[in-house]
Amino acid sequence: MISREITKRPDYVYPADEWRMVEKRFYPRFLPATETIFSTANGYLGMRGNFEEGTPAFENGTFVNGFYESWLIIYGEEAFGFAKTGQTILNVTDSKIIKLYIDDEPFYLPTANLLSFERALDMKAGTLDREVLWETPAGKQVSIKSRRLVSFQHRHLAAISYEVTILNGEAPVVISSEINSVLNTQDNSQTDVDDPRETKNFKQRVLLPMISYANNRRIMLSHSTKNSKMTLACGIEHAIETECAHSCETKCSEDSGKVVLSIDAKQGMSIRLTKFMTYHISRSASPQELCERAERTLVRAISHGLEELLAGQRHYMDDFWRRSDVQVRGDSFIQQAIRFNLFQILQATGRAEGAGIPAKGLTGKGYEGHYFWDTEIYVMPFLIYTSPLVAKNLLKFRFSFLDKARERARQVNQKGALFPWRTINGEEASAYYAAGTAQYHINADIVYALRKYVYATGDEEFLYNDGTPVLVETARLWRDLGFYSERKGGKFCINGVTGPDEYNTVVNNNTYTNLMARENLWYAAETIYWLHKNKPERFSELVHETGLDISEVVEWKRAADNMYVPIDQKAGIHLQDDNFLDRENWDFKNTPHDKYPLLLSHHPLVIYRHQVIKQADVVLTMFLLGNEFSAEQKKRNFDYYDPLTTGDSSLSVSIQTILAAELGYMDKAREYANYALLMDLADIAGNVKDGCHIASMGGTWMAVVYGLSGMRDYDGRLSFNPQLSERRLGLLYHVTVRGQLLEVDIGHDKELVTYLLREGSELTITHHGEEICLRKDVPVSRKLERRKK
Ligand code: BGC
Repeated sequence: MISREITKRPDYVYPADEWRMVEKRFYPRFLPATETIFSTANGYLGMRGNFEEGTPAFENGTFVNGFYESWLIIYGEEAFGFAKTGQTILNVTDSKIIKLYIDDEPFYLPTANLLSFERALDMKAGTLDREVLWETPAGKQVSIKSRRLVSFQHRHLAAISYEVTILNGEAPVVISSEINSVLNTQDNSQTDVDDPRETKNFKQRVLLPMISYANNRRIMLSHSTKNSKMTLACGIEHAIETECAHSCETKCSEDSGKVVLSIDAKQGMSIRLTKFMTYHISRSASPQELCERAERTLVRAISHGLEELLAGQRHYMDDFWRRSDVQVRGDSFIQQAIRFNLFQILQATGRAEGAGIPAKGLTGKGYEGHYFWDTEIYVMPFLIYTSPLVAKNLLKFRFSFLDKARERARQVNQKGALFPWRTINGEEASAYYAAGTAQYHINADIVYALRKYVYATGDEEFLYNDGTPVLVETARLWRDLGFYSERKGGKFCINGVTGPDEYNTVVNNNTYTNLMARENLWYAAETIYWLHKNKPERFSELVHETGLDISEVVEWKRAADNMYVPIDQKAGIHLQDDNFLDRENWDFKNTPHDKYPLLLSHHPLVIYRHQVIKQADVVLTMFLLGNEFSAEQKKRNFDYYDPLTTGDSSLSVSIQTILAAELGYMDKAREYANYALLMDLADIAGNVKDGCHIASMGGTWMAVVYGLSGMRDYDGRLSFNPQLSERRLGLLYHVTVRGQLLEVDIGHDKELVTYLLREGSELTITHHGEEICLRKDVPVSRKLERRKK
């Protein structure tokens, strides 16, 4: 089931356009949502889709990935091992403001007489464009065209080109380009204090002024944070192109600055201001040093100019789409929505180097900018198969927290390492253990992603060098956490953890956790044995790094071989956890829609006492480890758990799609896929104002590729089970496997699927059980089968 209704798709807000998200009118009431949807970001720097004028705004937002403030968590009742410090991403200096005055009248959207308005997020060009025709109260018609980009090529750089032309007369024009960190003492947004998904607001200012200066049309501001001791430098620089007479004045104080351009505008003569914006952050560099870095970025930007920056963006985007596009023939709305999802993943990850993926990317500060398992389980598959380098960087970044994860394990009285459930700096930041830090499965999720990465890329060096310490420490944690229970026939049990489903917490033998831990233990044992035998030097280093004793490996394997898997023979299903069936049934029939998500309308304990599920758990296990379940088990489990799943988490429907498709429940699969696809565009979760649901977006790619086209990759072997789509939608996508680019074209008119190795030399895949060896540029087609029910 699904608790939410798809609000009627707001076609009038985003009309169909395969490459652009377009807004044809200014809709004040959609502002909170469109600020998120029209965000521009590159994984390092993100700007919400606020208007250049700065107002009206729901939340003026600019974020640098990993730039946060920490704070002491105050518990009503403390206990040993609780996380100590919270971390919150900061809304940093706002550099994108450009105000316009004609005849000294401000341009302000809500009151302006707009003769035309169009705003478009161009997903091919990687820009946000706006074109407005404004008639001033005095009857002057003013064309205002702006284009914004956050550069993928130069990750510290963003730019806005702002062009004003008076079409029917002349007037004094003032363009005030501003930079402002005053608002960002946190913060002007409206926070619903009862919604745990929202972000803390600070009572005192958090960005402390360090340096500020202006030089001609360039302004620099540097700020530091008190607790996290991070430093930010933000600078702006301008180029002016106009044949009208003009003058320019620059002002700067410690928290703000402006370059004010005054022009005697003549009819039909354009005035173009190009604003370059740069952001640099550091934990160790001084404010002076950061300002120097920022200056260098600006000097380079201004000398190369905007056109070059736009061309670079275009080039980056072309390359991204070449590897990552999913084409749907026959439905422009679906095409647009898919591209939007993929584009937002790119914006959350493309240049994240040295940081993780915040749950909302850089489109809003929901979930405090934290990195969760969302990265490894939901976003990684897309990245591994389309941008393996980005995937590797993210794994590396995660692994860089190993020491902190070791410390965390000690805090919870365990050996090995326990990665934080939510974090920015590697320390656990979740103040709630039941639905938070008890999710030890994060360890296994990280190892699962590592294994997928290694299989898909063949990058074994990375496994042996960077991955092995993580394998050792995570395996140690599992071995230490579980025990052999006599009452369970001497099997290895893991008690007192929370699985992915946050509506059943602190449970014993969560199927997901046990099976994923088993995988973690097996993979660790197998890899370390191999290393011991084949790479003795690296093995000795590892022993040195981790104090490993080879006898430990025997123990990991024994625990994995004996892992307890809770199955209820009578019901014929895997138990989500030992006691799942003992809980009272939830009264779905009498739960009105407005009570969902249940977490906002029920005390947690009420939820925990019932058979009600927030998000795919057993169903997720059956996708990730699908080769460990029989078809019969999958059907029984899905039939049991699916009706209990509220989908109160956006991480659910994509996975439900995949299993529904595998089981031949095609109507259901399509319905769920639709929810995943429109999660943010139709604001299904009702909180798009706080940012995009990046995990759901990764899930959307999986719903299409694994779900609707039937790809599987168990143990690195690629197989496809595409079916003939009743709606005859053609589907074309690419996956990169061991450096080779495979195109999968599931045609709609020819009733064929065609596999084509576009780059590489040779790749073996399986199509409905038949092995096919592909060679470069030689397409192989097979007839699509109609699904047997
Ligand atoms: C989900 C988690 C997820 C988090 C961040 C929660 O609602 O239950 O699984 O990691 O959101 O996306």
